[in-house]
Amino acid sequence: MDLDTVTVRVGEAESAVNITVYRNLLSDVSPYFRGAFEGSFVEAADRFISLTDVTEQTFRMFLQWVHTQVHQHSSGATIPSPVILLPGSTAKNAGNTTTAPVELQPPHHTQSVPDAGFLPDDISALDEMGGHQKRWDIKEIEGLQLKGSEWINGYRLSLLSFLRLYVFADKYNVPQLRDDVLTALTAQSISWWWWPGVDRELMESAYATLPPSSKFIRFLVLSTAYCWLSEPGSCSATRVRAMKEMNEVLAFDVMVVQNERLKETESSEGMPFWLEDAMPNSCTLQEHLARDAAKCRKRIREQPYIFIGLIEMCAQDALSMAKESDEE
Ligand SMILES: [Zn+2]
Repeated sequence: MDLDTVTVRVGEAESAVNITVYRNLLSDVSPYFRGAFEGSFVEAADRFISLTDVTEQTFRMFLQWVHTQVHQHSSGATIPSPVILLPGSTAKNAGNTTTAPVELQPPHHTQSVPDAGFLPDDISALDEMGGHQKRWDIKEIEGLQLKGSEWINGYRLSLLSFLRLYVFADKYNVPQLRDDVLTALTAQSISWWWWPGVDRELMESAYATLPPSSKFIRFLVLSTAYCWLSEPGSCSATRVRAMKEMNEVLAFDVMVVQNERLKETESSEGMPFWLEDAMPNSCTLQEHLARDAAKCRKRIREQPYIFIGLIEMCAQDALSMAKESDEE
């Protein structure tokens, strides 16, 4: 492996920090970074790039995700890591540009993978739940065992964290991370049977930062139409009006899904009545640009720690966000 390092400056002005990363780690997952560091751009000569619109926290989460995969690919060969990973709170570490390197182990790395005979080959298999629910053990994730309104706040903050990661993956072209965020979100939603509803900050931020065709937005639209808007006893008119006030495109997108559902089920465009039929697994949303559907399913079955890692990171991020807002 090429051990060339590059420096990535993340954040704005005085809160910006320099992070040293192996160039290959970035180039392998992102055509954007490959172009920047391997082309004839000034970044390639300087081995330096500045990402002012990315927070240190988001970038470290991205790096942690990158590392969980490298550990797997290198089949046991550990790579000394010059990067620092996930400080407890971004704000407290914002001024520090030098921190002792921390060796990262992928979560649940030692967990055994069940034998192949047990695994369904069917591409539509519900790897995000069913037989895997025990192994994934998302409910046990430390920090999200909060109660009542605290839990809901933690949950919505974790969605914002997922969104930031997805926006990063969208802007800096990391196709596998986009797909992985959707798998993690789907797994979390199925495991808790709790799907995102309409949240102003989440929706406004998603529509403001992502293209309308984004699969993350599609995920939000589907869960809003099937769960939030369809809750028994709720007044649809009031809810649609609330959505429209928040974002007219969101209201339109959700109404299109609703309309498709109400068509004849035989119609080729008809959406099934239940979310689990409309979105049996995360592959229905994914782009599969880095891996095709078969490889994607295999990866979800065999490397659940990648997705558990994402869920854990976003949960931790949510907790530090909650703490910061408490302190204010
Ligand atoms: Zn897939």
